[in-house]
Amino acid sequence: MKTLVRPLGAAAVALVLLIGGTSTAQAYHLQGPKLSTSSPTFSIDSGSSASRTAWTSGISDWNDASAGVSLSTTSGTGTATLGDANDSSVGWDGITYYSWNNNTNIVTDVSAYLNVAYTASYDAAKRKGVAAHEIGHVLGLDHTSSCVLMNPTTPDRTDCGVSTPQSDDVNGVRSLYATNNFSEQESRPATTGHTVMHLSQAKTFNSLKSLHQGADAVVLATVGSKSESIKNGIPFTDHQLKVLRWLKGGSADGTATIHQTGGTVNGELIQDELEPLLQQGQTGIYFLHQYAPGKFFIIGGADGRFNVAINAGTATATSAKLKGVSNSLASVISQTQALTAAEKK
Ligand SMILES: [Zn+2]
Repeated sequence: MKTLVRPLGAAAVALVLLIGGTSTAQAYHLQGPKLSTSSPTFSIDSGSSASRTAWTSGISDWNDASAGVSLSTTSGTGTATLGDANDSSVGWDGITYYSWNNNTNIVTDVSAYLNVAYTASYDAAKRKGVAAHEIGHVLGLDHTSSCVLMNPTTPDRTDCGVSTPQSDDVNGVRSLYATNNFSEQESRPATTGHTVMHLSQAKTFNSLKSLHQGADAVVLATVGSKSESIKNGIPFTDHQLKVLRWLKGGSADGTATIHQTGGTVNGELIQDELEPLLQQGQTGIYFLHQYAPGKFFIIGGADGRFNVAINAGTATATSAKLKGVSNSLASVISQTQALTAAEKK
């Protein structure tokens, strides 16, 4: 079993020791808004029978979990829409996208998709686990980095044997709909913000070596201009890179764009909090998958991304899983080049 990072662990243990209590610590995170009803209906709009089965199984799991909610499917317009996408230009196997009313804190529009580009090759339990995870978002849960359903990466959930709501996930949903205890509610973003997306990463990496192995290409580059698009209601951004040096692989003509999920819709920036959009002018080392000639996405979400400060000589991992890697730019470059050289032998 993998040891997962639990950023709240130390604080929670300290608190329990201080008050001498025996109650279990809460680790769940709430997004803030919730559905208008504890008996939501779900419209399943999916061309894949495997996806439909995963969604209905995920709904059953939540109904069986005594979470204070009663979920059902509808052939009409539901409280939420569950569907699928088929997109090999992204690293996520599931996404939930929703908007809410800032005055009422009630969700007004929510859709979740399984990405069959990944989930088609999953076994039924793993695919159902992604569906149940996305339904957790629909109900109002944010990510939690421990061995629970709301862990943001599918490999971490699979490795620790989780494909159904765990007690921490259930407590989070109960706090929203049953006990109305909002003590764990996170403060909402700026008052203009009322849309959020969550990505479930299909892959995750915890060492420079595994990142290098999982990448078609590794590049030291500065982010240039961007273009935005919308597909199935989901915003995407393509960043032109100014390549400083390829550390592994590369494109045929040396140019590269990085494709990211997220963008600006009606003037509002919408992005995954764990994989925020790159900013023009920032420099980084990026571990990439090439899905079309010259077109890449960063592997493992935050994992494949190091922020570089050329003058300071630093390359800092953005993922907590990679914090053990030296943040010396020269060291990250030389280690990466050594891995590339070893691979060619
Ligand atoms: Zn998620």
